[in-house]
Amino acid sequence: MSKRVKHPARNAVVALAAAGVGASMVFGGGAAVAADSKTVPAAGPAAAVAAQAHTQAAQAKAAQVKAAQVAAAKKAAAKKAAAANAAKKAALAKKAAAKKAASWVKPVARYTLTASFNQGGAMWSHKHSGQDFAVPVGTVVKAAHSGVVVKAGPNGGGDGPAYGNAVVVKHAGGTYTQYAHLSKINVRVGETVKTGETIARSGNTGNSSGPHLHFEIRTTPNYGSALNPAKFLRGEGVVI
Ligand SMILES: [Zn+2]
Repeated sequence: MSKRVKHPARNAVVALAAAGVGASMVFGGGAAVAADSKTVPAAGPAAAVAAQAHTQAAQAKAAQVKAAQVAAAKKAAAKKAAAANAAKKAALAKKAAAKKAASWVKPVARYTLTASFNQGGAMWSHKHSGQDFAVPVGTVVKAAHSGVVVKAGPNGGGDGPAYGNAVVVKHAGGTYTQYAHLSKINVRVGETVKTGETIARSGNTGNSSGPHLHFEIRTTPNYGSALNPAKFLRGEGVVI
């Protein structure tokens, strides 16, 4: 007992030292655990949740990117389809324009067919060289096909007084059309005309028994080379 009483301070130091060692061991261990939990985050359940959340976010982002890619692809496909459609339309329009340019039309819209080609009669020195369309004076006369005006004026444009005022148009392929007994001429020699373009007004000039358009199809610009107009137009898909 006396020994213990004599050295209370030493005992206390030892106790403190022991406590100190214990404390340092506790702190050290705690620090080590703390360090471990930082370096291995996946080990904890919270870390697993965080990782899962991260994965979900990544998946969502990937889905967004894919959706954007799909939308872009759809847009590109729509644009391509629209371009193809436009090209198709343009091709059709071009074809229609080409067909229209190649087509023939009737020289007058409303008429009554009177004297036909090769018909005999007192009105003609030989046989009738064209097709007559009975129409009121002043009716619009259209170019039956595109071409260039080669005759236009009184005296049949040079073919003779029997035709009155007349126009002759030269077409591609060695065909000519003639329009006679006109009251008014709207074109001049050398002028280019389109299919269906107004070139004159009908009349009753020259050797004519009444208001009508005398229409010829010729193989030359001149009288004497006429073909049957009704037959020719029928061959071009125009029925009069
Ligand atoms: Zn005639």
